[in-house]
Amino acid sequence: MHQITTLLIFLLMGMVGTGRLAAQETAVFTHMVLPGDTWEALAWRYGLAESDLVVYRTINQQRQPVIGAVLLLPDRGISRNGTLLRHGDGGLLATAVAHNLSPWGIARQNGLPHPYLPLAYQPLFLPGDSPPRDLPIGFTTLELSAIPARPGQAVALRGEITSPFTATVKLNGQLFDSFSNGRYHVSLGATYNFFGSGQPELAIQPPDAPGWSQPWEFVDDQWDYEQITLTGGAAQITQAQIEAERERLFLIWRSATPQIFWQTPFRVPLESYLFISSNYGARRSYNGGPYNRSHEGVDYAAYGGTPVLASADGRVVIAEMLTVRGGAVIIDHGLGVYTGVYHMRDIFVSVGDAVAKGQIVGEVGSTGFSTGNHLHWDLLVNGTWVNGEAWTEQNLACWVAAGYGRPCAGK
Ligand SMILES: [Zn+2]
Repeated sequence: MHQITTLLIFLLMGMVGTGRLAAQETAVFTHMVLPGDTWEALAWRYGLAESDLVVYRTINQQRQPVIGAVLLLPDRGISRNGTLLRHGDGGLLATAVAHNLSPWGIARQNGLPHPYLPLAYQPLFLPGDSPPRDLPIGFTTLELSAIPARPGQAVALRGEITSPFTATVKLNGQLFDSFSNGRYHVSLGATYNFFGSGQPELAIQPPDAPGWSQPWEFVDDQWDYEQITLTGGAAQITQAQIEAERERLFLIWRSATPQIFWQTPFRVPLESYLFISSNYGARRSYNGGPYNRSHEGVDYAAYGGTPVLASADGRVVIAEMLTVRGGAVIIDHGLGVYTGVYHMRDIFVSVGDAVAKGQIVGEVGSTGFSTGNHLHWDLLVNGTWVNGEAWTEQNLACWVAAGYGRPCAGK
């Protein structure tokens, strides 16, 4: 009996010991990467060593942490706030004087052996109230509209800037529409719905200053699949006609008016409809061909004559019968954002008109490349067709306007 008890205690001790050891080894926490979270900033913030991050840096090679990635980091019991100084020109002493801090304090906080030794190129951390972030020069804040982002959705960037300048913003080399009013900077862009998943590089280039870049996580969506058989009149529309109309419209869509006309979230362009007959981004096969095309907007099945409404305030830039799109009205909402409504049997506005959100611009019909009464609604940002849903449901319009210092509220 005694022997058995001893054996039991022994076993239990062994289990407890193993459990404690395992707990120590796996003390980790998760961190979702935000803009400005560089490897150096994360290491300093959480007291981590190069070796703690090596698993991610190996996968990621020379790139900065991917915005939207969730990192599993070892818990060293450290969480520091501070300001990251990427360009401490003049060395540590000059930095200390400029910020009214002790050079010994800065040296100690940054693990430097001696404040009088020459400062090799490396970021410096000064005491502060917020997590250290390595933002583009001239930016005091930087936010992205979606983390992670999705293909086929408009994405936006907003930040406060210290002086009047307009930075150049690119995603995988594709130029965004960028605007600044001296205090705020906003940029609008998109990846098309065939982009898939990926980690495109977001690059911000302020004028006369070093560039900044960080990868951005994109996660793909589920898409509908549609087989479309073209017969009769629709089949007679030639590829040349489709291309010619598209080229003409892209001359408009690729330009960006540097003002915001909208004051409230965007709305669906119909008060009532029967059902959505085709979603944005649906993969399409025409007459048995490959699914290499996609639906550029949303189709609402509706009775002929249903009033069609402006999605937001703006200016009419197209109001006419087009070959493919039929009765068409395109509205410029500013900042490179356009909405279009097509296949209408009647149009009630003219080019140059200022329209208000909810104003009737036409009537549902089946003109152009159409086989029945419906309204095709599209929304373009930065010359790319995107899902209008983000502008009606997720309030992206107001997110952008607020980032530009403009009030935007209500329904
Ligand atoms: Zn359509």
